Amino acid sequence: MNCYECVQSGRASEAVAVCRMCGAAVCTEHVRTETAQVRVAAHPGKVIHDQPARRLTCPVCRAAEESP
Ligand SMILES: [Zn+2]
Ligand SMILES: [Zn+2]
Repeated sequence: MNCYECVQSGRASEAVAVCRMCGAAVCTEHVRTETAQVRVAAHPGKVIHDQPARRLTCPVCRAAEESP
């Protein structure tokens, strides 16, 4: 599968990840990696897992999440 962002700009790059928000395939250049601590709602602020979770998103969804 090719990177969706690259295809939009007339290029073709092999995708390495899939955006968890919109499902678009993205290449290494366009993937946005974010780590987030996994917390349980019943115990606010308590970190259950030491290992942070990973979230992979495309630039569009990342920008949308960061916009106010
Ligand atoms: Zn790309
Ligand atoms: Zn996306």
